[in-house]
Order: sequence, then structure tokens, then C-alpha cells
Amino acid sequence: MTNWIIHLSLPINYKKISALLKQVQYKWQKINMTFQDLNLNTPLYNALDDLGLTTPTPIQEKSFNVIGSGKDVVGIAQTGTGKTFAYMLPILKNLHFSQQQNPRVLILVPTRELVVQVVDEIKKLTKYINVRVLGVYGGTNINTQKQAVVEGLDILVATTGRLYDLAVSHVLQLKSIQKLVIDEVDVMLDLGFRHQIINIFDILPQRRQNIMFSATMTYDVDAIINTFFVNPIRISVAASGTPLDNIAQQRYNVPNYHTKVNLTNHLLQDKETFNKVLIFVAFKRMADRLFEDLEIIFNDECCVIHSNKTQNYRLRSIEQFRGGENRILIATDVMARGLDIDNISHVINFDTPDFPENYMHRIGRSGRAEKEGNSLLFSTEKEQKGLQLIEDLMQMQIPLIDFPEDVEVSKELIEEEIPKIIEHHNPTKRKFNEDAPGPAFHEKKDKNKKENLGGSYKFKIAAKYKKPKTRGDKNYNRRNKRK
Ligand code: AMP
Repeated sequence: MTNWIIHLSLPINYKKISALLKQVQYKWQKINMTFQDLNLNTPLYNALDDLGLTTPTPIQEKSFNVIGSGKDVVGIAQTGTGKTFAYMLPILKNLHFSQQQNPRVLILVPTRELVVQVVDEIKKLTKYINVRVLGVYGGTNINTQKQAVVEGLDILVATTGRLYDLAVSHVLQLKSIQKLVIDEVDVMLDLGFRHQIINIFDILPQRRQNIMFSATMTYDVDAIINTFFVNPIRISVAASGTPLDNIAQQRYNVPNYHTKVNLTNHLLQDKETFNKVLIFVAFKRMADRLFEDLEIIFNDECCVIHSNKTQNYRLRSIEQFRGGENRILIATDVMARGLDIDNISHVINFDTPDFPENYMHRIGRSGRAEKEGNSLLFSTEKEQKGLQLIEDLMQMQIPLIDFPEDVEVSKELIEEEIPKIIEHHNPTKRKFNEDAPGPAFHEKKDKNKKENLGGSYKFKIAAKYKKPKTRGDKNYNRRNKRK
């Protein structure tokens, strides 16, 4: 009884209890969630049955209600996570039969291979639904595609260039588009399709739902979202095949770039342990700089890839790394997506990504095929915010390792690290320099001194010439005739 009283007199932490309940509820859902819980319709259930699918993947589970609600959505998920069905299931559930000619759903993808793949997936899901799906892409006869458009369709899957050509030819009308899906948007932006995407936004109806899927989050993707999306809801899942338990994660606090280089050099000395190392950096410039710095010590063991390198250079670098000729590969986030290289001993996150999903994708390069992986994360003080976001997403803390004593801590800063001094208030700064020449250093001629006096000036001129300056000023004439 005393125990009871003690317990009850303690302050109740509602927040903690509710978080715990949510966790239990989530785990319960995870164990029990089936497609039946999504309240689909019979034709969709029959199609899923034919495909032998009973359980939604995490991205399908997370997207269904959000996409169904009609709000703008940004999903971070890789190919193979089931993302095509993640957006198609809620769209198809709400797409009613129609005989109208113009499409109501537009799906943009970066390549023609993806057009074919997405159309195939949709056809599998719509086996028992009367819905017209068409895929269009460049490099093939546009007239055949025009003919197909004229016959009428509900869902159009397209690459951006061909879509635009069809739209400007007026054969394809986009005025009925209610839902726009942009799939693999990071690839599109990396291929330089930014302007094409923006042009398409311009010719679409204002009132529409925007759904975007990307494997990684980049600043370019973020810029598109901020410009064209209305309060989007963000959903993300860990990269497929990223069994977190399989990857030993550790981190270092490192004060600056040069100290990060010293630490990397120190770690890479152990060639036996660090036998196949993928180093991630956020920017191309940083990738080149790090490559130059590591090359000094690891001359023949190091290669680099980013999107400014030629296709041949990239392929050669990947092959050399894959084959073991080079032990170290430096890569940017976008470039390394989809890289399927076995037996990577360590992923080094040379910087801490601002977008936590990128960290998940990075570490997923290690620990593939049930093998043990290792990930090291370097964070400066400025990067602690990014670290927090990563730990929040994973709902775990990454163990911190003490900085090795024999590694030199550099005081030297690179340009990007030098703090910029912004003077908000400087009382000693002279606001106006009397000695400095002003904007004009000679007296204006009288005729140039005229000011724009707006309406009143117009009336003065009218009075001077006693005639209307505009045809509409008839009252002026009448007034003056009566005088
Ligand atoms: P994605 O490229 O991400 O759309 O993934 C496509 C593959 O995942 C296809 O082979 C689908 O048949 C498969 N897939 C989609 N949803 C599920 C599911 N709920 N369970 C198992 N496999 C699925």
C-alpha cells in the first residue's frame, strides 16, 4: 500500500508515457499490418493477391494515408523499397472511372527504362481496373505517341523532354492533371533536367497534388520542394538492405577539415582493417580537395567520383575500387547512390550530412549481403545539429570514440570554415563620407531637373495647352467651352 502511495505522489510524465504507448502501438502495427488494413478495394486486392503480396513495405505503410489525404508529399526512398506501389495504391484507390480524353495523373521519371518499368508496375496493379495507362519517352516516333494520346488516357508516365514536346504540340492537354508524381527527382536534377521540370510546372494546373520521391535529399531537391510544394509532408525510410544491426557505427568529434584529413590519414595507415574504404563528402569541390590531400600519402590507392567527372573516368574509378586495385574511393552522395560494391570494410562520413536520410544511404553501402559493415562519422562543432537529426531518425545514439592522441589537431582553417564577421552595429563606422564624390558631381541642367509629378503634372500641362491630353478628358473641354 505504501508503495502505491509513493508511486501516485510522483509527478506523472505524460509525454514519456505517450511516447512509450506510441512505440508499443507502432511495434504492434508493424507486426500485424497487412494490405487489408489499408482499406483498399476488391480489384486492388485481387491484383495484389495475384502478385502474392500481403504485407505493405514500410514506405507503402507510411505513404498510404498521407498521399490519400491529397496533401503535397515528399518521400525519401530508394528503388526496390516498393515506392511505385507506395504512390500508386492511394492514387488508384481514389481514381474513379472516366471516359475523358485528358490524363488526370502525370508521373515524371528520368529515363525511358524507368517509364517502361513504372508502366509495367501500374499494369500489374490495374489488372482488374478499367484504367488507361500510357508511357511516353524520347528517341522514338512522336507521331505514334500522339495517336495514343488522342485515343484518351488516365495515367501518363513520361520523361520530361517528350512530355513537353507533346504538350506544346497541343495534342496532349494537361489541364485535367490532378496529381503530379516526380519519381527519382535527385537523378533528374543530377542529369540537368531542372529547367525542364520547372517548365512543366508552368503548364500544369495550379490546383494539383504534388508527390515527389527521391533516393537522397540534396540542396537542389530541397530548392525545388521549397519553391513549388505547399507545406509538404515528408516521409522517409532507411535504404533497403540497411540492416542497422549489421553495421557498427562510431563517431569522432573533429574540429576542422585539416584535422579530419589527419585523422583519415591515420586510420588508413591500417591497411588490413581499412581494406576497402568508401569516403563520403557532400560537395564536388570537397571531393577534389580531399582527393588531392589523400593522394600525397596514398598515391596509387585512391580514386574519386562526382558528377563533374566524365562517364569514363567515373566508370574507371568504380571498376578500380570494385576490383581492389584502389583501396579508397571518395564520392559525393548523389554519385554513390545505387553503387553496389561488395565487401566495403568501412564507410567514412568525412562530413556530417545535413539531411539524415543521406547518412542512412551512405552507411547502407557497407554491411551488404548480411556482411558486417563499419561506419565512421566525423563531426565538427557546426555539424552537431546534423548529428542530432541522424540520431533522432535512427532512434539511437552513435558511440563517440576518443580522438587519437597521436593525431595532430590542426589550427589551420579552410576558407569555408573561417567565420564571417557580420557587423550588425558598429558605432565607429562613418555612415557618410563627405570627402567622397557623390553620385553626381556637376550641377544638372534645368531641363534635367524635372521631377515626375504624376497626376498633378498631367493636369498642369493640360491647363497650359487648354486641350485634353487624353481622349477621355472630355469634361475639360466642356468646362472650358462654357467659360
Ligand atoms: P520499387 O522499384 O521501389 O517500386 O520496387 C519494386 C519491386 O518491389 C517490385 O518488384 C514489386 O513487385 C516489389 N514490391 C512492391 N511492393 C511490395 C510488397 N508490399 N511486398 C513485396 N514486394 C513488393
